[in-house]
Amino acid sequence: MSNDRQLTPLDTIVSLCKRRGFIYQSSEIYGGINGFWDYGPLGVQLKNNIRDDWWRSMVECAPLDENGEPVHIVGLDSSIIQNPRAWVASGHVGGFSDPMIDCRACKARFRADHLEEYDCPRKPSKKAGAHESCDLTEPREFNLMFETFVGAVKSDESRAYLRPETAQGIFLNYKNVLDTTRVKLPFGIAQIGKAFRNEVTPRNFVFRSREFEQMEMEWFCHPDESEKWMDFWKRERMRWWRSLGIREEHLIFRDHEADELAHYSKACVDVEYLYPFTAPKYGELEGIAHRGCFDLTQHGTHAEMKLDYTDPVTNERFVPNVIEPASGLTRGVLVLLCEAYTEEWVPKEGVEGGPREAVSGESTPEGYESRVVMKFAPRLAPVKVAVFPLLKNKPELVAKAREVFKELRQHWHCFYDQTGAIGRRYRRQDEIGTPYGVTIDFDTLADNTVTLRDRDTMKQERISLDELSGHLAGRLAS
Ligand code: ATP
Repeated sequence: MSNDRQLTPLDTIVSLCKRRGFIYQSSEIYGGINGFWDYGPLGVQLKNNIRDDWWRSMVECAPLDENGEPVHIVGLDSSIIQNPRAWVASGHVGGFSDPMIDCRACKARFRADHLEEYDCPRKPSKKAGAHESCDLTEPREFNLMFETFVGAVKSDESRAYLRPETAQGIFLNYKNVLDTTRVKLPFGIAQIGKAFRNEVTPRNFVFRSREFEQMEMEWFCHPDESEKWMDFWKRERMRWWRSLGIREEHLIFRDHEADELAHYSKACVDVEYLYPFTAPKYGELEGIAHRGCFDLTQHGTHAEMKLDYTDPVTNERFVPNVIEPASGLTRGVLVLLCEAYTEEWVPKEGVEGGPREAVSGESTPEGYESRVVMKFAPRLAPVKVAVFPLLKNKPELVAKAREVFKELRQHWHCFYDQTGAIGRRYRRQDEIGTPYGVTIDFDTLADNTVTLRDRDTMKQERISLDELSGHLAGRLAS
């Protein structure tokens, strides 16, 4: 893949998501609600596949350390609403805020720290604050936590918060995990789940939403080894994102400048992606932070409980340091959608050759037609195999195709489609990224073979039904 490949505009991705059932605007029939999104039949499948891949790579099949041994990470699913004192201790009640600026003239709201990125909503198009009549307020701090009340009485005592990150639930359970499992330092606790932030200006589709999902892991280690583990997790996290099929040149590391670091953080590096709306710059996908001993110390003090560790060999007692790879699952979905979207020119029937990437702005060459294909890695694709009878009005073909479908669906998420010309059915699957199509025709009835079509090469091969599952298993694992 070349470096100068055109990025697909976000609008194109948004409209495909709507058209094919990946992502819908939340509460659309009521006019929507800003900053909230619903994952449709294909979107939830894609999201679950990314989630499961992360979980497997962190918990069930964690990476190997420098000695070639697996590191130890356990899972957790903590509640979304926690004792509000936890958010005082973590610093979120006092300090989890963004500076916002309002325009008194047009009533628009902007993040003060990103003012240069906003346009004034009025015409002619100008930057925020650039019209003569613009009347901006001074920046005001705005706490991003959603508040709610627990129980029947609404009062300061019953006030609670929807968690703005999954990480704190892990720190609250550090002692539980230590006391009830046989983990020894260094070890990690991983969690995936919803997080809520009342973002000042949600935008760029699901990139910045008010309800989203995170995949976070807190790695507890000896302070003397923290730098080593920071390097380890940097490497591992980049390796994992690349393993999802993201082009190398679309991902970078960005070290935080000293003035960007949270007061407790010793170092932080972001994994950034080349989003169509940030290009030529990159935007955050994951943050990997060295949090020192801040969280365990804070919760230890506020909860009046020792959250430390005693080394079973040396008896040394200390508060572990923490390295935190914190990524956005829903942001990851957006990245994979951007990455997979491909427009190609494919030879019409009877014309020699294979598909080639379309050149934007140029018309489709003679003898070719265009197609949209979502090139998801097979293991992440929402639907793995589509099964088609060649003709829907031949009962014997339909019966055989239903039989094959019922067999394959026991192993993978499959889709059965008998409507329309076979070429159209292939295209519909290309557009949602289904890696393989299986067509049942008259030869199938005679010799028990089917046509297996590959999404990317569009090549078709004849394969015996007896070998089909084994064949697909190998290919779909990549
Ligand atoms: P940003 O600078 O983009 O606001 P952040 O640095 O506040 O993000 P973290 O607190 O480090 O983000 O959260 C970890 C990850 O959670 C981010 O890398 C991102 O993938 C995801 N995330 C954070 N805020 C949002 C949001 N509003 N919508 C979707 N994903 C988010």
